[in-house]
Amino acid sequence: MRLGFHLSIAGSLLRAIRQAQVLGCQALQIFVQNPRAWKWRRISQPEIDAFTDARRRAGLGPVVVHLTYLPNLASVDGAQYQKSRERLGQELALAQALEADYLVCHPGHAPLAMESYRRVAQALTAAVQKIPPPPLVLLENTAGQGQELGRQPEELGLIMGLAGVPLGLCLDTSHAFGAGYDLRHPGGVAGLLGEIARGPGLESLKIIHLNDSRAPLGSRRDRHAHLGQGAIGLEGFRQLFSHPWLQPEAAIMETPKRHQADEWRNLLTARSLISTKMVAR
Ligand SMILES: [Zn+2]
Ligand SMILES: [Zn+2]
Repeated sequence: MRLGFHLSIAGSLLRAIRQAQVLGCQALQIFVQNPRAWKWRRISQPEIDAFTDARRRAGLGPVVVHLTYLPNLASVDGAQYQKSRERLGQELALAQALEADYLVCHPGHAPLAMESYRRVAQALTAAVQKIPPPPLVLLENTAGQGQELGRQPEELGLIMGLAGVPLGLCLDTSHAFGAGYDLRHPGGVAGLLGEIARGPGLESLKIIHLNDSRAPLGSRRDRHAHLGQGAIGLEGFRQLFSHPWLQPEAAIMETPKRHQADEWRNLLTARSLISTKMVAR
């Protein structure tokens, strides 16, 4: 399992690659646009070439693109839904140009009803038919705050089934804990992985977002913490990683960014968790 971070592209796409090299991680996740704005910054071909070239030379992979925050693929508002679908298409096209392996997106916000899942599925079908993988689009589980879809793997499996195009799964540990899956106990881990097996399927799980949680179990809140410093704790991650069903390609940390020392500590912690897994196998 390769390890990486979500890294900033503020100023330039190359910045994320350089930062990954400084940290010594193997994988990385980026936004390809400002995550909190609709405004589109055109990325030139030389910029794209410089990124793909530097990524190859750095031996980094997988490269994961996270969809920006404003699109809502489940929106009940027609105009908002259309805008969100277009944005997904644009970001997926750019992710493909950048030779990304995956594009992660959240299902969106809407009443928990069949039409909502259908809207998300239709948006995904349209995007993937136009821009087939790679990158493979991954649906991410959520903490289920308010009207957030995707708290349970079953919902993600439902969307994948309705979409009928190749899709995968990204599992965020902090979101799962906020959603009520108690990763600190073998039963909680087995329950979550069992739901994934019965829903989207274990083989669809490609990426883990490896985050501890500042919010308590079942709080439906999404607050990331450094590994071992939140409510999941190291014992929780050990439980998770020692499960033989868990075989993702990479774990990406989206831990708080204050000091670089934090990133190094998180990376060392993650490495120790994975080596425990090796010993356990
Ligand atoms: Zn996410
Ligand atoms: Zn989160």
